[in-house]
Amino acid sequence: MTPKHIEEQYDAVIVGAGAAGLSAALGFHRSDAARALREAGVEPKVLVVSKLQPLRSHTGSAEGGIAASLADMEPDEWRWHYYDTVKGGDWLVDQDAARLLAEDAPMTVINLERSGVAFSRTADGRIAQRRFGGHTSDFGARPVKRAAYSADRIGHQILHTLWQQCVHYGVDFAEEWYVTDLVLDETLRRAAGVIAFDTHAGVTRAIAARNTILATGGAGRLFRTTSNSHDLTGDGMALALDAGLQLEDIEFVQFHPTGLAHTGILLSEASRGEGGVLRNADGEAFMASYAPGHADLAARDVVSRAIRSETDAGRGVADPRDPDGPKDCVWLDMTGIDPERMRRALPQVVETIEDYAGLDPTKDLVPVKPTAHYTMGGIPVTTDGEVYVWDGERRNIVEGLYAAGECSCVSVHGANRLGGNSLLDACLFGTRAGQAVAARVADDPVAAGTPADPALSDALDAAKTARDADIDTLLADAKDGDDDNAYRVMDDLSETMERGVAVLCDAGSIARAQVVVNGPIAERARRLRPHSDARTFNQELTAIWEARHLVRLAEAMIAATDARHESRGSLKRTDFPDRDDATCLNHSMTAAGAAPLRQPVHVVDIEPGARSY
Ligand SMILES: Cc1cc2nc3c(=O)[nH]c(=O)nc-3n(C[C@H](O)[C@H](O)[C@H](O)COP(=O)(O)OP(=O)(O)OC[C@H]3O[C@@H](n4cnc5c(N)ncnc54)[C@H](O)[C@@H]3O)c2cc1C
Repeated sequence: MTPKHIEEQYDAVIVGAGAAGLSAALGFHRSDAARALREAGVEPKVLVVSKLQPLRSHTGSAEGGIAASLADMEPDEWRWHYYDTVKGGDWLVDQDAARLLAEDAPMTVINLERSGVAFSRTADGRIAQRRFGGHTSDFGARPVKRAAYSADRIGHQILHTLWQQCVHYGVDFAEEWYVTDLVLDETLRRAAGVIAFDTHAGVTRAIAARNTILATGGAGRLFRTTSNSHDLTGDGMALALDAGLQLEDIEFVQFHPTGLAHTGILLSEASRGEGGVLRNADGEAFMASYAPGHADLAARDVVSRAIRSETDAGRGVADPRDPDGPKDCVWLDMTGIDPERMRRALPQVVETIEDYAGLDPTKDLVPVKPTAHYTMGGIPVTTDGEVYVWDGERRNIVEGLYAAGECSCVSVHGANRLGGNSLLDACLFGTRAGQAVAARVADDPVAAGTPADPALSDALDAAKTARDADIDTLLADAKDGDDDNAYRVMDDLSETMERGVAVLCDAGSIARAQVVVNGPIAERARRLRPHSDARTFNQELTAIWEARHLVRLAEAMIAATDARHESRGSLKRTDFPDRDDATCLNHSMTAAGAAPLRQPVHVVDIEPGARSY
């Protein structure tokens, strides 16, 4: 779909049409500020640009649930959710942001319900909730049912509902447009808009916007084994790096313990929430000895490392499809779940196991291994979604630039995200970013439809000219027969990253990854050319940009991993095995090619303590 009209100047351009981007669009349109503008006869101009058709966004794959202390099934309080989030993040969480997340979670879920999300229900008609790892009542005392769900297809429900609401509000979409550049003025203080490649028409578009919201999702494709869809190439984060901005805590990547062997496809945590148990080659339910009290529903980083310890100790199993292959899996045993309940509560999990492994989870053990799942770090933002640059002392807001969802870091997940908290983050902080932009548009009379500031439009023109030249060079040099291509580069990169920094690492493995990524892989990415000179629907063109974005991001991730001399949350450095609050309780702020700066963590009222699960 091409936008109804291409404007000279948008009030807001939103890059990304997952939970965060669509929530931002709705947050904007439903806000008092937008209503006031419309009543004054001004129709705000908002464009959502997406490299995918919106309903293909990865949000649609989310399975297990969205966290909120609704207390529909058991006593629960936002204070417990707040505490769990801070503790689950291994204390690297900004507590002001986490408090907001927990406090506003119930309203966020209720608003989703009112918008049309069909949640699963209790017998008396309330929103049903299930257990998820790390969510407890009474400050860690016992597990609590906090994840609101829709069988195991919550993301599908949320994505479709938000999209339908956007259609209702007449939101303008530019579908299958790939954003190649984020344009700022030369001081990095103001955003001018973005450059996008319209893959249907084969032309670049300069989109001038008073406000830009990046909502481009995660970067799981940095790793060979991942639950993420193929589009999750960290574009927004790389665009920020390319524009001279920083990424926060980018060394923290969550590995979900239960990826289906050798595909990495996610088997939702709900499979353990409903009673599934992990077993080693000896049939032992080993999690009880790693995390007494929480066992299989300990936090994800703990379970992933426990699996790795079991396989390293020779108690792993091979994928039955490849019996002579590496014994790097353990069993997920779901045979204790009532088969009827399993089909009703976990239809997606059952279907995935049947289709991709040819197994019957009511009878068979299922081979699983950790899979790259979630990028905790990202573009640093305030709780209103404003992007900032940390100068060593303070946050300097980039005027007119916002980010939300998995590409951003408002620092609610710290070093390890709790299940169900990311859909919540995307919907809640996406909405807040949209509302903040609407307020800015309504407050600032210049915003309503007047031409862009010349300094900004000059910056945009220059970026478009440079991008057109890049495309001309790529297409002019298109050559058949060269056997390197973007997919191969991405494959080699993801294998290098998996070997160097996934689950466990040390200075040696990090250095080896750095040499390969910054050297030959970066060079190959620079030299990539498409094999066809077609301008329209040339998917290799966008794949080349994706490969370059991944490399850019990998360089920053490796630099940040190298600079953190401790183990915390998802990052386990075997050469620095302990958490070190005295020197490392701070966020890393990494710009391209620079050593990370350190920003103190916002500690409000929860002192860092032990994390026993
Ligand atoms: C298999 C799976 C299961 C999950 N289950 C859960 C769960 O049960 N509970 C939970 O809380 N979380 C879950 N998560 C995590 C959660 O789904 C995501 O963190 C969240 O949906 C991210 O939303 P988003 O809007 O930030 O990004 P996405 O939904 O990934 O959307 C990104 C958007 O950006 C666009 N885009 C990207 N780059 C560009 C570009 N260069 N130009 C233009 N557009 C671009 C894409 O087209 C897309 O529309 C799961 C994740 C996975 C992978």
